[in-house]
Amino acid sequence: MLDAKLVSKSHSAHQTVVRLSEQVAIGGQDVVVIGGPCAVESLAQMEQVAATLSTSSVHALRGGVYKPRTSPYSFQGLGVEGLKVLAEVRDRYHLPVITEVMSIAQIEPVAAYADMLQIGSRNMQNFELLKALGTVHKPILLKRGLSATIEEFVMAAEYVMAHGNPNVVLCERGIRSFDNYTRNVLDLGAVVALRQITHLPVIVDPSHAAGKRELIPDLARAAIACGADGLIIECHPVPDQSVSDARQALSLEDMVDLVSSLQPVAAAVGRRLVKQEVGEALIAA
Ligand code: PEP
Ligand code: MN
Repeated sequence: MLDAKLVSKSHSAHQTVVRLSEQVAIGGQDVVVIGGPCAVESLAQMEQVAATLSTSSVHALRGGVYKPRTSPYSFQGLGVEGLKVLAEVRDRYHLPVITEVMSIAQIEPVAAYADMLQIGSRNMQNFELLKALGTVHKPILLKRGLSATIEEFVMAAEYVMAHGNPNVVLCERGIRSFDNYTRNVLDLGAVVALRQITHLPVIVDPSHAAGKRELIPDLARAAIACGADGLIIECHPVPDQSVSDARQALSLEDMVDLVSSLQPVAAAVGRRLVKQEVGEALIAA
C-alpha cells in the first residue's frame, strides 16, 4: 500500500470516530444513517424529507446543491440558495446536513452552511481539492472514485489527512464494471478490506451502486452485516419526479421501512441503530 501513514491502522491505536454534531458521530458502536434526495430542489421538498426522516432512525440529511452532471445541460444544483435550504432544515429538525463540494471556490460557502463536506467520486483524485480540504475545520465524506483501486482510495484520504484534517469518512459507492444491469458494482469486499487497513469509518452508498431502487434495501442490510459504520441513501417525496437519479430514489415511506429493517442486522453484528434522542426532544419541545 504505497506509503500510507496517517490512514493506516498501524498509525492509530484507536478507531477514528468522526463527529458531525453533538449527537451524531460516525465510527463508534452506533450505525449512522444519512438520507435525503440526490439534489436539493426546494425548501418544501427538504422540509418534507426532514419531517418524515426525523421520525425514524435517520441521523443526518443529504442533498446536493452543486451537482456533478454528465451533461452540461442537466440541472446543475441550486448553489447558495440550496445551502440556505439545508441550513434551515438542519436548524428546524436538528439533523446535521451533508453536501458535495466540487471545487476549491465552493469550499468556503459550503463549509459555512454544511456539517460535513462530500467529495464526489469524480473528484476523488482532484489532488488540489483534497489538499485544500485538509485545511477545513469540517469533516469530509470521501467517496470512492468511479474506477479507483482500494489503494488509490486510501491514498486520497491520506492527502486530506496529510494536509491537516483528520476527520475523514470513506464511502464505498460502487465501481464501474462490464455489467450494466446495475449502475455500478457494490464492492462490499472493499468495505471489509478498508476496515482492516484503516482506522477511518467506512460507510456505504447502495443508491449510486445499484442505480435501481428495488435493489437498495437488501444491499443496505448486507453493508451493515459486513461491518459498515453507516449508510448514505437517496430518497425523495415523489421519487419519479427527482430532478436527478430518479430511478434509484426511494420513497420516504420505503426509506423509513428500510431503516427499521436494519436494526436486527446491526444488533446481530454487535452494533446499535438508535434514534437521535436529543433531536427528538428538541422537536417535541
Ligand atoms: C451523489 O452523492 O449524489 C453523487 C453524485 O455521488 P457519486 O459522487 O458517488 O456519484
Ligand atoms: Mn445522486
